[in-house]
Amino acid sequence: MNSFFSRGPKYSEETIKEALNALRDGVILIDKNNKIIWSNENASKWLNLNDPFSQENIRAYFPTSEFDEFLSQSDQNSSLEAISPLNKSIFFSLQIIPLGATEKILVLRDITTPIRLEKVRTDFAANASHELRSPLTVIAGYIELMVEDESIPNNWKKPIEDLAKQSERMKSVLSDLLVLFQLESESRITDEEIVDLQAIVMAVRKDCMLAKKPPKEFKVDFKDSAVILGDEVKTQSIVNNIVENALRYCDKDGEISVNWFIDKAGGHLSIKDNGIGMEEKHLNRITERFYRIDKGRSRKLGGTGLGLAIVKYALQAHEATLEIKSELGIGSEFICHFPVSRIQIEQ
Ligand code: ADP
Repeated sequence: MNSFFSRGPKYSEETIKEALNALRDGVILIDKNNKIIWSNENASKWLNLNDPFSQENIRAYFPTSEFDEFLSQSDQNSSLEAISPLNKSIFFSLQIIPLGATEKILVLRDITTPIRLEKVRTDFAANASHELRSPLTVIAGYIELMVEDESIPNNWKKPIEDLAKQSERMKSVLSDLLVLFQLESESRITDEEIVDLQAIVMAVRKDCMLAKKPPKEFKVDFKDSAVILGDEVKTQSIVNNIVENALRYCDKDGEISVNWFIDKAGGHLSIKDNGIGMEEKHLNRITERFYRIDKGRSRKLGGTGLGLAIVKYALQAHEATLEIKSELGIGSEFICHFPVSRIQIEQ
C-alpha cells in the first residue's frame, strides 16, 4: 500500500529535529510516566532545560491539578492556559497530541502578547467606566431635582422626564459594566464563604413580588439543602439577574418557579418562566455582552444586555455552568449546575 510518507523523500531524525527546532512553538515529547524524552530548542529555553533529553517529569514544571487533568486527556482540540514556571508574566497555551500508544507531544505556544493586549483593552474599558461614574452621578442628581421641581415650565416636563429615563439607563449600564469588569479581573473566588442559596432565592422572591408588575405565581421548591461554598454577592447576582429576566420577559400572568436538587453530578438550580421564550438559534449567544434578541423590548423594560454575561462569569467563578432551554411562546429555563466540590452537606 502506498503510504503518504513512502511517496515523498525520507528524512533523517536529525533533519526532523532541525525542523522542530526552527518552530516558534515549544515541542516536548513525553513518555507514559510524563518524563521528557526530548524537547526542541524553544521548549528547552522556556523551561530552562540544560539537556533536550532531560528525563525530568513535566509535572514539576506545571504543578497544578488542572495541568494533571489536562495531561491525562487526549483531546487535541482542548488547550490549557498556563503561566511560565520561570517568569510569572509569560503565558503559554498548551496542547497535547497523543503519539503512538503511550507517548505524547506537549506543544507550548507563547500567548503573552495577545493576553497583554486583552488586558490593555479591558483595563481601558474599566477605567473609562470608572471615570464616567462621578460626572454621571452629578448629572443624574440635577435631573432628579428638576423632575421634582414644581416651578419648571410645563413645556420642559416631558424633555426632563426623558432625560431622567436616559440617565437611569446609563447608570444601570455603567453599574453592570463595572460588575462585569470586576468579575473578569478575579476569575476565581478568593474568599470562600458558606452561602445559603435558598435564603437568597427567598429574598429575591420577596423583591420580585413587590415589583410594579409582580408575577402571578412564584413557586420555590428546594428538595435538598442548598448550602454551597462560594461567594454570596456573586450568587445573589446570578439569581437576581435570571429572575429579573424571567419577570421582564413574561407577559401578564407570569409564572416563575425555582427548583433545587442535588445528585451525583452536583447541585442544580433551575429558574423557569412561562414567558415569551426564545428561538433555538439565539440560545448560545444570549450570554454575550449586549446580545439582545429584541433590543427595543429589552431597553424599554430596563434591560442592559449585560445580565446574562454577568451570570456566566459569576458561575464560572464557582466552576459552575449554565444550561438554557427555551421554546418560543412557551417559556424558558435557566439551570445553574454547581459541581460536587461546591456543595456543603449539613451535618
Ligand atoms: P437584558 O438586560 O437585555 O435582559 P440579558 O443579558 O439579561 O440582557 O439577556 C440577554 C437577552 O436574552 C435578552 O435581551 C433577551 O432577549 C433574552 N432573554 C434573557 N432571559 C430571557 C427569558 N427569561 N425569556 C426570554 N428571553 C430572555
